[in-house]
Amino acid sequence: MSRKSAVAQPLIAQQELVAARARIAPLIRTTPLLYAEALSGRVGAEVYLKLETLQATGSFKVRGAANKLLSLAAEARARGVVAVSTGNHGRAVAYVAKRLGVRATVCLSREVPRNKVAAIEALGARLVIRGDSQDEAEAAARELVEQGGLTLVHPFDDAQVIAGQASLGLELLEQVPGLDAVLVPLSGGGLLAGVALALEAAKPQLRVVGVSQEASPVMIESLSAGRPLELPERATLADSLRGGIGLENRYTFALVRELADETLRVPEAAIAEAMRFLLETEGLLVEGAAAVGVAALLERRLELSEKVAVILSGRNLGLDQLAALLRPEEGAG
Ligand SMILES: *Cc1c(COP(=O)(O)O)cnc(C)c1O
Repeated sequence: MSRKSAVAQPLIAQQELVAARARIAPLIRTTPLLYAEALSGRVGAEVYLKLETLQATGSFKVRGAANKLLSLAAEARARGVVAVSTGNHGRAVAYVAKRLGVRATVCLSREVPRNKVAAIEALGARLVIRGDSQDEAEAAARELVEQGGLTLVHPFDDAQVIAGQASLGLELLEQVPGLDAVLVPLSGGGLLAGVALALEAAKPQLRVVGVSQEASPVMIESLSAGRPLELPERATLADSLRGGIGLENRYTFALVRELADETLRVPEAAIAEAMRFLLETEGLLVEGAAAVGVAALLERRLELSEKVAVILSGRNLGLDQLAALLRPEEGAG
Protein backbone atom coordinates (compact mmCIF):
# COMPACT_ATOMS: atom_id res chain seq x y z
CA MET A 1 0.00 0.00 0.00
CA SER A 2 1.23 3.45 -0.82
CA ARG A 3 1.04 6.04 1.88
CA LYS A 4 -1.23 8.86 2.94
CA SER A 5 -3.95 10.44 0.86
CA ALA A 6 -3.48 8.11 -2.07
CA VAL A 7 -4.80 5.28 0.10
CA ALA A 8 -7.34 6.37 2.61
CA GLN A 9 -9.20 9.32 1.19
CA PRO A 10 -10.74 7.91 -1.96
CA LEU A 11 -12.35 5.26 0.28
CA ILE A 12 -15.11 7.74 1.01
CA ALA A 13 -15.73 10.70 -1.30
CA GLN A 14 -16.93 14.12 -0.13
CA GLN A 15 -20.16 13.82 -2.17
CA GLU A 16 -21.02 10.70 -0.20
CA LEU A 17 -20.79 12.65 3.05
CA VAL A 18 -23.17 15.28 1.75
CA ALA A 19 -25.53 12.64 0.38
CA ALA A 20 -25.49 10.77 3.69
CA ARG A 21 -26.37 13.89 5.62
CA ALA A 22 -29.42 14.51 3.43
CA ARG A 23 -30.44 10.83 3.57
CA ILE A 24 -30.43 10.60 7.37
CA ALA A 25 -31.93 14.04 8.06
CA PRO A 26 -35.46 12.72 8.76
CA LEU A 27 -34.15 10.30 11.41
CA ILE A 28 -31.63 12.38 13.33
CA ARG A 29 -31.39 15.73 15.08
CA THR A 30 -29.02 18.55 14.27
CA THR A 31 -27.50 18.95 17.73
CA PRO A 32 -26.66 22.28 19.34
CA LEU A 33 -23.22 23.65 19.96
CA LEU A 34 -22.76 25.32 23.31
CA TYR A 35 -20.13 27.88 24.29
CA ALA A 36 -18.71 26.53 27.56
CA GLU A 37 -18.13 29.55 29.76
CA ALA A 38 -16.57 27.93 32.83
CA LEU A 39 -14.45 25.49 30.87
CA SER A 40 -13.20 28.22 28.57
CA GLY A 41 -12.14 30.31 31.56
CA ARG A 42 -10.49 27.37 33.22
CA VAL A 43 -8.37 26.35 30.23
CA GLY A 44 -7.83 29.75 28.64
CA ALA A 45 -9.37 28.97 25.27
CA GLU A 46 -12.71 29.41 23.53
CA VAL A 47 -14.31 26.01 24.10
CA TYR A 48 -17.50 24.79 22.42
CA LEU A 49 -19.37 21.63 23.29
CA LYS A 50 -21.13 19.64 20.57
CA LEU A 51 -24.13 18.16 22.33
CA GLU A 52 -24.62 14.70 20.90
CA THR A 53 -26.04 14.03 24.32
CA LEU A 54 -29.25 15.46 22.83
CA GLN A 55 -29.12 13.19 19.80
CA ALA A 56 -31.91 10.64 19.26
CA THR A 57 -31.00 7.49 21.28
CA GLY A 58 -28.57 9.55 23.37
CA SER A 59 -25.48 9.17 21.21
CA PHE A 60 -24.10 10.04 17.76
CA LYS A 61 -24.25 6.38 16.72
CA VAL A 62 -27.70 6.86 15.21
CA ARG A 63 -26.15 8.93 12.41
CA GLY A 64 -24.08 6.05 11.05
CA ALA A 65 -26.73 3.42 11.74
CA ALA A 66 -29.34 5.45 9.85
CA ASN A 67 -27.10 5.88 6.83
CA LYS A 68 -26.25 2.19 6.74
CA LEU A 69 -29.83 0.95 7.00
CA LEU A 70 -31.13 3.51 4.52
CA SER A 71 -28.42 2.43 2.05
CA LEU A 72 -29.42 -1.25 2.11
CA ALA A 73 -31.23 -2.85 -0.82
CA ALA A 74 -34.88 -3.74 -0.15
CA GLU A 75 -34.03 -7.42 -0.15
CA ALA A 76 -31.38 -7.06 2.56
CA ARG A 77 -33.72 -4.89 4.62
CA ALA A 78 -36.35 -7.63 4.41
CA ARG A 79 -33.92 -10.23 5.78
CA GLY A 80 -32.99 -8.03 8.71
CA VAL A 81 -29.83 -6.68 10.30
CA VAL A 82 -27.53 -7.63 13.15
CA ALA A 83 -25.28 -5.41 15.24
CA VAL A 84 -22.55 -5.95 17.83
CA SER A 85 -22.37 -3.24 20.38
CA THR A 86 -21.08 -1.86 23.66
CA GLY A 87 -24.63 -0.49 23.93
CA ASN A 88 -25.06 2.74 22.02
CA HIS A 89 -24.64 1.31 18.54
CA GLY A 90 -27.11 -1.46 19.32
CA ARG A 91 -29.61 1.06 20.57
CA ALA A 92 -29.09 3.21 17.47
CA VAL A 93 -29.56 0.25 15.13
CA ALA A 94 -32.65 -0.89 17.06
CA TYR A 95 -34.08 2.63 16.87
CA VAL A 96 -33.51 3.08 13.14
CA ALA A 97 -34.70 -0.48 12.41
CA LYS A 98 -37.91 0.15 14.29
CA ARG A 99 -38.54 3.40 12.42
CA LEU A 100 -37.93 1.68 9.07
CA GLY A 101 -39.75 -1.54 9.89
CA VAL A 102 -36.59 -3.69 9.66
CA ARG A 103 -35.99 -6.64 12.00
CA ALA A 104 -32.88 -6.12 14.17
CA THR A 105 -30.81 -8.47 16.32
CA VAL A 106 -28.23 -6.99 18.70
CA CYS A 107 -25.31 -9.03 20.08
CA LEU A 108 -23.86 -7.84 23.37
CA SER A 109 -21.28 -9.06 25.84
CA ARG A 110 -22.22 -9.50 29.48
CA GLU A 111 -20.19 -6.35 30.25
CA VAL A 112 -22.68 -3.96 28.67
CA PRO A 113 -24.37 -1.83 31.37
CA ARG A 114 -27.94 -2.76 32.27
CA ASN A 115 -29.49 0.58 31.29
CA LYS A 116 -28.17 0.17 27.76
CA VAL A 117 -29.45 -3.40 27.48
CA ALA A 118 -32.90 -2.31 28.68
CA ALA A 119 -33.05 0.54 26.15
CA ILE A 120 -32.29 -1.82 23.27
CA GLU A 121 -34.88 -4.31 24.45
CA ALA A 122 -37.49 -1.57 24.75
CA LEU A 123 -37.03 -0.77 21.06
CA GLY A 124 -38.09 -4.29 20.15
CA ALA A 125 -34.75 -5.69 18.95
CA ARG A 126 -33.87 -9.32 19.56
CA LEU A 127 -30.99 -9.59 22.05
CA VAL A 128 -28.18 -12.12 22.02
CA ILE A 129 -25.91 -11.89 25.06
CA ARG A 130 -22.63 -13.74 24.67
CA GLY A 131 -19.26 -13.74 26.42
CA ASP A 132 -17.30 -11.19 28.41
CA SER A 133 -15.83 -9.13 25.60
CA GLN A 134 -16.82 -7.35 22.42
CA ASP A 135 -14.89 -9.92 20.42
CA GLU A 136 -17.05 -12.77 21.74
CA ALA A 137 -20.24 -10.86 21.01
CA GLU A 138 -18.91 -10.21 17.52
CA ALA A 139 -18.43 -13.94 16.92
CA ALA A 140 -22.13 -14.43 17.71
CA ALA A 141 -23.05 -11.78 15.14
CA ARG A 142 -20.86 -13.37 12.46
CA GLU A 143 -22.74 -16.64 12.95
CA LEU A 144 -26.04 -14.89 12.35
CA VAL A 145 -24.66 -13.33 9.19
CA GLU A 146 -23.45 -16.69 7.87
CA GLN A 147 -26.40 -18.81 8.96
CA GLY A 148 -29.32 -16.41 8.92
CA GLY A 149 -28.41 -14.15 6.00
CA LEU A 150 -28.65 -11.06 8.18
CA THR A 151 -26.67 -7.95 7.19
CA LEU A 152 -24.05 -6.91 9.70
CA VAL A 153 -24.19 -3.26 10.70
CA HIS A 154 -20.68 -2.66 11.96
CA PRO A 155 -20.30 -0.06 14.70
CA PHE A 156 -17.41 1.72 12.97
CA ASP A 157 -15.57 -0.14 10.19
CA ASP A 158 -18.04 0.50 7.39
CA ALA A 159 -18.03 3.21 4.70
CA GLN A 160 -21.73 4.03 5.13
CA VAL A 161 -21.45 4.18 8.90
CA ILE A 162 -18.45 6.50 8.67
CA ALA A 163 -20.25 8.70 6.11
CA GLY A 164 -23.18 8.94 8.52
CA GLN A 165 -20.95 10.02 11.42
CA ALA A 166 -19.46 12.66 9.10
CA SER A 167 -22.75 14.58 9.29
CA LEU A 168 -21.65 15.68 12.74
CA GLY A 169 -18.53 17.24 11.26
CA LEU A 170 -20.53 19.00 8.55
CA GLU A 171 -22.74 20.51 11.26
CA LEU A 172 -19.67 21.68 13.19
CA LEU A 173 -18.30 23.44 10.12
CA GLU A 174 -21.48 25.49 9.85
CA GLN A 175 -21.90 26.10 13.57
CA VAL A 176 -18.47 27.48 14.37
CA PRO A 177 -16.25 28.94 11.68
CA GLY A 178 -12.53 29.18 12.24
CA LEU A 179 -12.05 26.24 14.58
CA ASP A 180 -8.46 25.45 15.55
CA ALA A 181 -9.04 22.04 17.06
CA VAL A 182 -11.69 19.38 17.51
CA LEU A 183 -11.42 16.82 20.30
CA VAL A 184 -13.02 13.53 19.35
CA PRO A 185 -13.51 10.45 21.56
CA LEU A 186 -11.64 7.60 19.90
CA SER A 187 -12.38 3.88 20.06
CA GLY A 188 -13.01 2.05 16.78
CA GLY A 189 -12.45 5.34 14.99
CA GLY A 190 -15.69 5.64 13.02
CA LEU A 191 -16.55 8.93 14.66
CA LEU A 192 -13.10 10.41 14.22
CA ALA A 193 -12.78 9.21 10.63
CA GLY A 194 -16.17 10.63 9.68
CA VAL A 195 -15.70 13.95 11.43
CA ALA A 196 -12.18 14.40 10.09
CA LEU A 197 -13.30 13.64 6.52
CA ALA A 198 -16.02 16.26 6.87
CA LEU A 199 -13.54 18.80 8.23
CA GLU A 200 -10.96 18.31 5.48
CA ALA A 201 -11.85 21.69 4.00
CA ALA A 202 -10.89 23.44 7.25
CA LYS A 203 -7.45 21.82 7.42
CA PRO A 204 -4.57 22.31 7.90
CA GLN A 205 -5.44 25.12 10.34
CA LEU A 206 -7.82 22.80 12.15
CA ARG A 207 -6.31 19.95 14.16
CA VAL A 208 -8.29 16.77 14.76
CA VAL A 209 -7.34 15.24 18.09
CA GLY A 210 -8.43 11.72 19.09
CA VAL A 211 -8.82 10.99 22.79
CA SER A 212 -8.95 7.47 24.28
CA GLN A 213 -9.18 6.06 27.77
CA GLU A 214 -5.87 4.92 29.23
CA ALA A 215 -7.34 1.53 30.20
CA SER A 216 -7.09 0.04 26.69
CA PRO A 217 -6.45 2.54 23.92
CA VAL A 218 -6.48 -0.02 21.12
CA MET A 219 -6.44 2.39 18.17
CA ILE A 220 -3.59 4.44 19.62
CA GLU A 221 -1.50 1.34 20.33
CA SER A 222 -2.27 0.05 16.86
CA LEU A 223 -1.14 3.32 15.28
CA SER A 224 2.16 3.08 17.16
CA ALA A 225 2.61 -0.52 16.07
CA GLY A 226 1.77 0.33 12.47
CA ARG A 227 -0.94 -2.36 12.29
CA PRO A 228 -4.20 -3.29 14.06
CA LEU A 229 -3.55 -4.93 17.43
CA GLU A 230 -5.70 -6.79 19.91
CA LEU A 231 -5.46 -5.73 23.54
CA PRO A 232 -7.14 -7.22 26.59
CA GLU A 233 -10.25 -5.25 27.56
CA ARG A 234 -10.24 -3.50 30.89
CA ALA A 235 -13.07 -2.03 32.90
CA THR A 236 -13.47 1.70 32.31
CA LEU A 237 -15.92 4.45 33.05
CA ALA A 238 -15.81 5.07 29.32
CA ASP A 239 -17.63 1.80 28.58
CA SER A 240 -18.61 2.96 25.09
CA LEU A 241 -14.93 3.09 24.16
CA ARG A 242 -14.40 -0.61 24.89
CA GLY A 243 -13.59 -3.09 22.18
CA GLY A 244 -10.90 -3.58 19.56
CA ILE A 245 -10.56 -2.20 16.06
CA GLY A 246 -10.54 -5.62 14.37
CA LEU A 247 -7.40 -7.32 13.11
CA GLU A 248 -8.92 -7.20 9.62
CA ASN A 249 -9.73 -3.51 9.89
CA ARG A 250 -10.68 -2.12 6.47
CA TYR A 251 -11.36 1.58 6.89
CA THR A 252 -10.85 3.24 10.22
CA PHE A 253 -7.24 2.28 10.94
CA ALA A 254 -6.09 3.82 7.64
CA LEU A 255 -8.38 6.83 7.98
CA VAL A 256 -7.41 7.62 11.56
CA ARG A 257 -3.71 7.20 10.73
CA GLU A 258 -4.19 9.60 7.88
CA LEU A 259 -6.53 12.15 9.39
CA ALA A 260 -5.85 12.39 13.13
CA ASP A 261 -3.29 15.10 13.80
CA GLU A 262 -2.74 13.94 17.34
CA THR A 263 -3.96 11.25 19.74
CA LEU A 264 -3.88 11.21 23.51
CA ARG A 265 -5.09 9.16 26.44
CA VAL A 266 -6.72 10.13 29.68
CA PRO A 267 -6.81 8.22 32.98
CA GLU A 268 -9.99 7.05 34.69
CA ALA A 269 -9.81 9.65 37.46
CA ALA A 270 -9.68 12.45 34.88
CA ILE A 271 -12.74 11.05 33.09
CA ALA A 272 -14.69 11.00 36.36
CA GLU A 273 -13.53 14.54 37.13
CA ALA A 274 -14.60 15.76 33.69
CA MET A 275 -18.05 14.18 34.12
CA ARG A 276 -18.52 15.92 37.47
CA PHE A 277 -17.23 19.19 36.03
CA LEU A 278 -19.72 19.13 33.15
CA LEU A 279 -22.57 18.32 35.49
CA GLU A 280 -21.62 21.04 37.92
CA THR A 281 -20.74 23.85 35.51
CA GLU A 282 -23.12 23.20 32.59
CA GLY A 283 -25.75 20.90 34.05
CA LEU A 284 -24.75 18.39 31.41
CA LEU A 285 -24.95 14.70 32.10
CA VAL A 286 -22.55 12.80 29.87
CA GLU A 287 -21.36 9.22 29.88
CA GLY A 288 -17.69 8.41 30.44
CA ALA A 289 -16.81 8.00 26.77
CA ALA A 290 -18.19 11.46 26.05
CA ALA A 291 -16.10 13.10 28.77
CA VAL A 292 -12.63 12.20 27.50
CA GLY A 293 -12.17 15.41 25.51
CA VAL A 294 -13.02 17.61 28.47
CA ALA A 295 -10.77 15.40 30.62
CA ALA A 296 -7.90 16.06 28.21
CA LEU A 297 -8.51 19.82 28.44
CA LEU A 298 -8.78 19.88 32.22
CA GLU A 299 -5.61 17.79 32.49
CA ARG A 300 -3.88 20.06 29.99
CA ARG A 301 -2.82 17.11 27.92
CA LEU A 302 -2.61 19.06 24.70
CA GLU A 303 -1.18 22.26 23.41
CA LEU A 304 -3.90 24.86 23.52
CA SER A 305 -5.56 26.33 20.51
CA GLU A 306 -7.78 29.37 20.51
CA LYS A 307 -11.04 27.90 19.36
CA VAL A 308 -11.73 24.34 20.35
CA ALA A 309 -14.77 22.12 19.85
CA VAL A 310 -15.25 19.07 22.04
CA ILE A 311 -17.62 16.34 20.96
CA LEU A 312 -19.78 15.16 23.85
CA SER A 313 -20.60 11.90 22.12
CA GLY A 314 -23.34 10.47 24.34
CA ARG A 315 -25.30 10.58 27.54
CA ASN A 316 -26.27 6.99 28.26
CA LEU A 317 -25.15 6.68 31.84
CA GLY A 318 -26.89 4.33 34.25
CA LEU A 319 -28.20 5.68 37.54
CA ASP A 320 -25.91 3.27 39.37
CA GLN A 321 -22.92 4.67 37.45
CA LEU A 322 -24.07 8.19 38.26
CA ALA A 323 -24.45 7.41 41.95
CA ALA A 324 -20.92 5.97 42.05
CA LEU A 325 -19.60 9.03 40.25
CA LEU A 326 -21.11 11.39 42.78
CA ARG A 327 -19.77 9.40 45.73
CA PRO A 328 -16.22 8.57 44.64
CA GLU A 329 -15.12 7.77 48.19
CA GLU A 330 -17.41 4.73 48.12
CA GLY A 331 -15.49 3.26 45.20
CA ALA A 332 -16.36 2.55 41.56
CA GLY A 333 -15.43 5.85 40.05
C1 LIG B 1 -19.12 4.54 20.04
C2 LIG B 1 -18.88 5.69 20.90
C3 LIG B 1 -17.65 6.38 20.86
C4 LIG B 1 -16.49 5.95 20.01
O1 LIG B 1 -16.77 5.95 18.64
P1 LIG B 1 -15.82 5.15 17.62
O2 LIG B 1 -16.43 5.38 16.29
O3 LIG B 1 -15.88 3.70 18.03
O4 LIG B 1 -14.45 5.67 17.77
C5 LIG B 1 -17.51 7.51 21.66
N1 LIG B 1 -18.50 7.91 22.48
C6 LIG B 1 -19.69 7.27 22.55
C7 LIG B 1 -20.72 7.78 23.49
C8 LIG B 1 -19.92 6.13 21.76
O5 LIG B 1 -21.10 5.51 21.85
